Amino acid sequence: MTRVHNFNAGPAVLPPQALQQAQQELLDFRGTGMSILEISHRSTTFEAVMAETEADLRQMLGIPASYKVLFLQGGASLQFAMLPMNLMATGKRADYIVNGAWGKAALKEAQKLGPARLAGSSESTGFDRTPSSLELNPQAAYLHFTSNETIHGVQFWGEPTPSQGVPLACDMSSDFLSRPIVVSRYGVIYAGAQKNAGPAGVTVVILHEQLLERIPDGLPVMLDYKAQAAAGSMHNTPPCFAIYMVGLVLKWLKAEGGVEAIARRNQEKAGLVYAAIDNSGGFYRGHAERDCRSWMNVTFRLPTEALEAQFARQAEGQGMLGLKGHRSVGGLRASLYNALPLESAAALVQFMAEFQRVNG
Ligand code: PMP
Repeated sequence: MTRVHNFNAGPAVLPPQALQQAQQELLDFRGTGMSILEISHRSTTFEAVMAETEADLRQMLGIPASYKVLFLQGGASLQFAMLPMNLMATGKRADYIVNGAWGKAALKEAQKLGPARLAGSSESTGFDRTPSSLELNPQAAYLHFTSNETIHGVQFWGEPTPSQGVPLACDMSSDFLSRPIVVSRYGVIYAGAQKNAGPAGVTVVILHEQLLERIPDGLPVMLDYKAQAAAGSMHNTPPCFAIYMVGLVLKWLKAEGGVEAIARRNQEKAGLVYAAIDNSGGFYRGHAERDCRSWMNVTFRLPTEALEAQFARQAEGQGMLGLKGHRSVGGLRASLYNALPLESAAALVQFMAEFQRVNG
């Protein structure tokens, strides 16, 4: 079996152990004589999968009992709409911090639904940092931010501080489970699973139960956090296989030492690649300011676009996939999610040195 060095931004590399277990269990899941794909979501077998996955996630992140954990569909993109539908509906404004394309998309979606406003942006510097100054509304329904901007490679190190009593809402899609977090600082956390947590198809939402009281009546049931919480994320058929895979990834992460251990490894991987950039004498140029550098998505440029294209092509020839930057910004991007082995980061660094030697 040959596994490539997978630098995809999402869907992304998954732990081989989780894939192997899924393979082993595929034809006969836990003695049912059926695969996990073929059983009822109302069966005790699937209910157990759901319960284990939620319990493992709660344990992994230290999620207090006062928080609901939901497994929803529609991706993080649906949360861009669902969050304001549920929590901006009190007629209050919501504040958005924008330090990249995803935060901008979240704000745009919220503005279709109510008075969402920009509380700070780094667009004027090309989303190379988190905004240095914020204008916060002390009455806001919530303060939204994106903890890691996947396209620009900009990470919030430490949460923004909302005004007293304003819940913090976070799109954590691309750094979810990559490091420890203090859940009690947040009102709502959401994350599409397809980076660190599992395959595409399920979105994890963690929200404080007190916020459920603010949700207006009459929302479409699938878009109502309260209804989804009451039904244990099973108002309709949930994405069973994706949830099962999240469970397997969590078991792998636990065996690896949990979020503390994976954070150390993530820092080490990112450190290798950033050092290669910094020690290249300007041949490689990092996009993000140093104090906002992402451990998950390392974005960088070469002297010309032609060299960038050549870099991505030649890297691919050596089994390093997914290094082309997002189509909206160009350049190169190495996504170094949890399941990417240290050897893959080391292989990239070696390739970077060789490429510079020949082309620099
Ligand atoms: N937010 C962030 C930070 C993302 O990285 C992405 C996807 N790359 C999204 C939102 C959109 O996620 P989805 O495709 O699950 O809707």
